[in-house]
Parts: sequence; structure tokens; C-alpha cells
Amino acid sequence: MTVTAAANSCAGTLYVVATPIGNLEDLSARALRVLREVALIAAEDTRHSARLMAHFGISTPLMACHEHNERVEGGRFLERLQAGADVALISDAGTPLISDPGYHLVRQVRAAGIRVVPVPGACALIAALSASGLPSDRFIFEGFLPAKAAGRRARLELLREEPRTLIFYEAPHRILECLEDLEAVFGGERAAVLGRELTKTFETLKGLPLGELRAWVEADANQQRGECVLVVAGWQAPVGDGLVGSEALRVLDLLLAELPLKRAAALAAEITGVRKNLLYQLALERKQ
Ligand code: SAM
Repeated sequence: MTVTAAANSCAGTLYVVATPIGNLEDLSARALRVLREVALIAAEDTRHSARLMAHFGISTPLMACHEHNERVEGGRFLERLQAGADVALISDAGTPLISDPGYHLVRQVRAAGIRVVPVPGACALIAALSASGLPSDRFIFEGFLPAKAAGRRARLELLREEPRTLIFYEAPHRILECLEDLEAVFGGERAAVLGRELTKTFETLKGLPLGELRAWVEADANQQRGECVLVVAGWQAPVGDGLVGSEALRVLDLLLAELPLKRAAALAAEITGVRKNLLYQLALERKQ
């Protein structure tokens, strides 16, 4: 047994607990039990979480753990864990660490050899994806895009030929600008779904091509309020006309330099989502 493990054999456990993103019935029975049983709850905003605790009749003490104090104050939670206390980490809504604080604390606690246990539950990106009807076998979560237009467009340019389904969080006051930029960079035909106020009274899941979705949000100020997730279909290589994006060609060329032609084409297809036959033909031409 290592010294760290021996030193921490009596340590408590850090539970990473998901809380609802709107509908309070989404707090799991296990989350409820853990929040009642731990010695301390590390919360992003103690005043906000106090209301949730009051609703469920939980009297466990709350202590702040937010992005401004997480690195410095993490040591206080670590001390309690090392002394044998169990601690729960929660954020204002959904799963901690997902566009929320907790990353530094989890790292510190794991580095100290202390057990970290997830108590899964609500997460806006998964809720939106699961009901979007867009491909869910492979997806990427991009969190919040940069707030300023130039940064946002630059980021989107890098994602233009991403073949996996893309998921973004966005603030309501920027949703229209964000949709405008998505339309400008990805094109108005790309399928997208806006998930707004998920699990709440005015829940909306609107699926339209980006151009129409932008116009729909623009025409109705109510769609520019509340919390939103955008799910956008991944890039698809144009079928039949032989056009393949520059990123796919770059990947193909890199692989061709290292691998036999057939293997390079197959792997490039896997990475980029472009049809294998098309890449194979291109590989043949490029080798000649
Ligand atoms: N940790 C949370 C999670 O697991 O989803 C996310 C926290 S992040 C600070 C807040 C963002 O999540 C919001 O700006 C919005 O993009 C998204 N979000 C949270 N709740 C939502 C809801 N009920 N409906 C739609 N989006 C939501």
C-alpha cells in the first residue's frame, strides 16, 4: 500500500452530485440521500442552494465553492475529507464541472488519493441531445462560445467541418447573435435544435434548418429569454459532386504519408465523416 493510500484509508468521500436544471423532481433518490448524509455540502452559490435544501428539508451545512475561491479554498474541503468527513459537491444547476465549478477541487481531492464518487443526474446538454432527434452516436460539447462576435466566428470557423453533432450552451441575450453567426459560418441549411427552458414550464425544443431557426427566434422575443442549449448537426461532405473539405484533405494527406492507401482512406473516413469510397478515389489520385 502506498503512503498516500495508507494516510487516506480513513478519509471521507467526495460525492459529485447532480441537481435539477429546472424540474425539482429530477433530483434522484440517491442524490437526496447523499445530500442528507454527508457532513458538508460544497456549493457554487450557498444562497441559491439553500432554497433547494429547504425545499427538500435538508439541513446539511453549506460552504461556498465557486470559481473564484475553488483553488484557494479547496484545501479546506480537503482537510475535512482527510479528517474522515464525507463532502458533496453541487453547482447551481445540473452536473458540477459541466460549464460549472468543481474541476480544481476534484483534481486536488483525487491527487490526495481520496475517493471521488459521481452521483449522476440532470445535465442540460444531455437532455437537449437526447430529445433533439439529431445523431447522438458521436457528439462534441463546446460549452459557451466566446461572447464577442470576432472570437465566436473564429471558433465556429474551426468547427465548420466537424462531422459530429455539436452542442453549445448560450446565454439568452446572445442567442440571436449566436444563431446569426452559426448561419453565416455553417450555412442556413444545416439542421439544428434549440432546447430552451428544458424541464421547466415553458420548455421548447424547436428543430429547423439554421436559417429558419434564426428567423423564428428573431421574430419572437420570448424565444430570446430563459436558458438555452443549441444542438447542431455535424458537417456532411457533399455527396456525389466530389467536393471534400480542406480539413478532410489535410487529414487524408497526413495519413497517406504514414499508412498504406486503403488504410489511410478508411481512417480518414472514420475521422472526418466523409464517405470512404470518395476518400479512396481521392487518395488514388493524390498518390498518382
Ligand atoms: N452544469 C449545468 C449542466 O449540467 O447542464 C450547466 C451549467 S451552465 C453555467 C448554465 C447553462 O446551461 C445555461 O446558460 C444554459 O445554456 C444551460 N442550461 C442550464 N439549464 C438549462 C435548461 N433548463 N434548459 C436549457 N439550457 C439549460
